[in-house]
Amino acid sequence: MSAVVVAVDGPAGTGKSSVSRGLARALNAHYLDTGAMYRLVTLSTLRAGVDLADAEAIAAAADVPLSVGNNPDIDRAYLGTEDVSAEIRGGEVTRAVSAVSAVPQVRARLVALQRELASGPDSVVVEGRDIGTVVLPDADVKIFLTASAETRARRRNDQNVAVGLADDYETVLADVLRRDHLDSTRAVSPLRPAEDAVIVDSSDMTEAEVVAHLLQLVEQRSGAVR
Ligand code: C5P
Repeated sequence: MSAVVVAVDGPAGTGKSSVSRGLARALNAHYLDTGAMYRLVTLSTLRAGVDLADAEAIAAAADVPLSVGNNPDIDRAYLGTEDVSAEIRGGEVTRAVSAVSAVPQVRARLVALQRELASGPDSVVVEGRDIGTVVLPDADVKIFLTASAETRARRRNDQNVAVGLADDYETVLADVLRRDHLDSTRAVSPLRPAEDAVIVDSSDMTEAEVVAHLLQLVEQRSGAVR
C-alpha cells in the first residue's frame, strides 16, 4: 500500500471532523485535527487573561506545549500534561478561537508543528482550514468540504440539543456566519479552497455517503490501494 496525504478543509459545521476521522479509519491513516491545536492555544490565551486585541500578548500566551490525540486516543487534547479535551470544545474557546488563530505568529508556529506531525512514512488525513493551501500544498488529495450555512447551523444546533445544550438555531446560525466571515476575510491564510481541491457539498449527503465519496476520490486521485 502506498502512503497518501489527504488534506480536508472547509468551514465549521460541514461534518468535517467526523468525515475526516471516518476517512482516516478507512485508509488506516493517521488523523490530525488542526482545529484542536488552535483551540488549545486559545484556551491557554484565555487562561492567561490576555486582551484578544493584543497580538503580541496572544502570541506569548499561545507559546505553550500542546499535543493532540492520535489513534486510538483520537479525541484527546492536552495542554502540557493536562487533558483539556472537553474544555476546548466549550463556548468560551469557540467564541475566541477566530481572533487567536488570526495572529500570524500563532499560525507560523502551529503550521510548522502541523508539517512536522504530518511528515513520516504513513498515510495521514489532516483536517483544517488552510491545509491544502498553506500547510501541505503538495498533499496527494485535497478536499474542500462545504454545505449551506443553514445546513451547517441546523447540524450544529442538533448536536447541541443532543448533548443537553439550548435549542437555539438562530444564535447558532449567527455564530456560523460570524466565524465564516472572520475565517475567510483574515489577512493570513484566509479560508478558501486550493486551486486543485475537489469541492464536495455535503448538504444533501449523510456522513457515511460523504466518507464513501471521499474514499472514492482518494482512490481515484492517488492510486492508493486499501
Ligand atoms: O475545526 P474547528 O472548528 O475546531 O476550528 C476552530 C477554529 O480554528 C476555526 O474557526 C478557525 O478559526 C481555526 N482554524 C484555523 N486553521 C486551521 C484549523 C482551524 O484557523 N487549519
